[in-house]
Amino acid sequence: MNPATTAKPPFDRQGELSDEARVDAAMRSFVREFGVTAAVHMEACVRCGMCAEACHFHVTTGEAKYTPAYKLEPFRRAYFREASPFAPIVRALGLVRKLGIDELQQWQELIYDSCTMCGRCTLVCPMGIDIAELVKEARHGMFRAGLIPERLALMDRAAQQWGSPATPPEDLPDILAEVSEQHGVPIPCDLPQADVLVTAAPAELGDHTKALADAAKILNRLGLKWTMHQGGFDASNIGFNNGDLRLQERLTKALIDTAVKIGAKTILLPECGHAYGAARWEAAKWYDGPLPVRIVHMTEFLDEQIASGKLRVRPIGDTATFHDPCQIVRRGGLEAAARRVLAALGLPLTELKDHGVAGFCCGGGGGVVSNVRAARLRAQVFELKKAQVEATGAKRFVTSCGQCRITLEQGAKATHWNKKPESLLELVAEQLVD
Ligand code: SF4
Ligand code: SF4
Repeated sequence: MNPATTAKPPFDRQGELSDEARVDAAMRSFVREFGVTAAVHMEACVRCGMCAEACHFHVTTGEAKYTPAYKLEPFRRAYFREASPFAPIVRALGLVRKLGIDELQQWQELIYDSCTMCGRCTLVCPMGIDIAELVKEARHGMFRAGLIPERLALMDRAAQQWGSPATPPEDLPDILAEVSEQHGVPIPCDLPQADVLVTAAPAELGDHTKALADAAKILNRLGLKWTMHQGGFDASNIGFNNGDLRLQERLTKALIDTAVKIGAKTILLPECGHAYGAARWEAAKWYDGPLPVRIVHMTEFLDEQIASGKLRVRPIGDTATFHDPCQIVRRGGLEAAARRVLAALGLPLTELKDHGVAGFCCGGGGGVVSNVRAARLRAQVFELKKAQVEATGAKRFVTSCGQCRITLEQGAKATHWNKKPESLLELVAEQLVD
């Protein structure tokens, strides 16, 4: 028997709430989330099981508990008991058991360690149920109950204090000065006025500083008036992944309000999928009316600049394949942009067997890459991507999300694979025509 099926699922707890208070906090949040859309989705599942073969966690382990519909089971029970049209009858007749603390604790592994909110299951569901979105809503309740993986909670606390899990804002000027010196490229910080507010992912302020320096190289080459700013610099939005809605709102507003303050018309997001999900698609809910700035992902930006002729690149002339980041492509709609940039780079694509909107997740989205206790599962899931990349026979393996890159690098290391995922942004910077 697979040990993973018998082992007790891991869970962490934050704060001092009693068990009862945790269950109540989760329930109150779930009921708030059961708006019309969620209710329709909860009622619609016909248990066809089609979502199972879409989920990389289920496909690579064969474990029934990783079936997407099953991952929603506690949420579904809460709905029928607390918010469905027949909830009073359901409760009176005891048709659906009340959720207890043990079930919530065991659920943590299913919606944090083994769901990347990638939306591949959503794509195949014949009833149009947005399972990824429902998992995200379920995380809101789990956060309120103090029941999220401790590693994510740690990052959440840092981001609450600093606005970023990577660094306090007052250290940003020094970090940028160091990156600037190391890579020989000017990086403006805290300019009082600029046209473009440039943001980063935490890794770009630590291990992946080349990506930040390469973004600076491109922006300087274009002659744009841009800056990074202590007021809003980290776009990764840990609140979006953790289920911490208040933090998500605060971090999103920090970016947009800083852009407005300095007169920037554009916020440029880094190569980060969740930054795109949080800022591009969810920011509007905190502003009445249209957003006061344009929010663009780095891939979109590169595509536009190359298409306009303002950015010219030397062709590489090699074979390549591409990993589509879920939040940018399937959830974000940017399937063609990266392919146009790759074509400009002279990298004809041999597509993965599953690619574009149907591509499999890297296995690290939704905070899973930062969740240390999910490392074994991530390595198992990585085998799927590795096999698909190998099957293309392509020499280069490119992607456009730093978090995907970290996940894929970790997977390569864990499985002794010698291919290194490359950044689309870094390839463009390396191939700039003088
Ligand atoms: S959103 Fe992705 S990881 Fe989560 S259940 Fe669906 S396919 Fe699996
Ligand atoms: S594919 Fe949709 S309808 Fe079928 S089991 Fe999964 S969630 Fe339910």
